[in-house]
Amino acid sequence: MTVIYIILALILIFILANLIHYLLFKHKYIPVLMYHRVNNHTRDNRIRYTTHKGSGLDIDSMKVSINAFQRQLDYLIRKNYQVITMDEYLDIINNKKKGKFVAITFDDGYEDNYLYAYPLLLEREMKATIYLVTNFINSNNSLPIDKDDDFTNNKPLTWDEVREMNKNHITFGAHTLNHQFLTEINDIEVLVQEIVESKKKIEQELNIEVKSFAYPAGLYNEEIIRIVQEHYENAVITANGRIVPLFNHNPYLIEREAISRTDNLFMFKLKLWGIHRFIRKSLWYQALRRLLKWRK
Ligand SMILES: [Zn+2]
Repeated sequence: MTVIYIILALILIFILANLIHYLLFKHKYIPVLMYHRVNNHTRDNRIRYTTHKGSGLDIDSMKVSINAFQRQLDYLIRKNYQVITMDEYLDIINNKKKGKFVAITFDDGYEDNYLYAYPLLLEREMKATIYLVTNFINSNNSLPIDKDDDFTNNKPLTWDEVREMNKNHITFGAHTLNHQFLTEINDIEVLVQEIVESKKKIEQELNIEVKSFAYPAGLYNEEIIRIVQEHYENAVITANGRIVPLFNHNPYLIEREAISRTDNLFMFKLKLWGIHRFIRKSLWYQALRRLLKWRK
């Protein structure tokens, strides 16, 4: 019996220590939400895309329904969140500005961002940052992830749509030329081109300065970060587990919370408040996961 009590006490201490840690640093955290698509079409035969790690990715989970997106925006308004772009993010962090901030980001540049997300954002005068795969924009090419599906369901934005949004609170960042996984590119010239030319293309089309970059699939290494650092003010990654510490201050590894189609408003709140991240990265959760894996 005593052993069980000791284990329980240890778990409790772990949770409490984590909680104190969370409460102490909560105010330094600005949630950056990651979306890909907003639309109401999911497929019956749920296609799974094989990711770089070989695990299946449910493509439909990246499509947040129009209703859910609207509810999430209205929640932010109700709770007086100030929505910022990724161009404003560092200034707020570095100058310790006071307020309840959140950033809304989209990856890739699908047309549904313009058709369904943008009107809802515009109505509420909310900002967002869209990371564009520049060779995808205005093209008749599907992204690799959609190659098994009808192109009409997976169209990219046009430059005209991008320009129109840019006039109304939407900022753009670069997400490479072709959405190749950067860690898999061996040719340094190609690597630089993917990172730098995408920025130049957006700057040319919009006549703005592009300050933020998103690594495709959140994949990076020292070399990639070094090139990104030379050309951008900051860069975002996807929420990928323990690689980045909970309170990380590297502006080139800004972690985001992925909002998925299956998230209800409660899950959205957990992600918004940083609690989801906090749990996922805490020692006791990691230990528990390892234990469950080990038992399988
Ligand atoms: Zn992407």
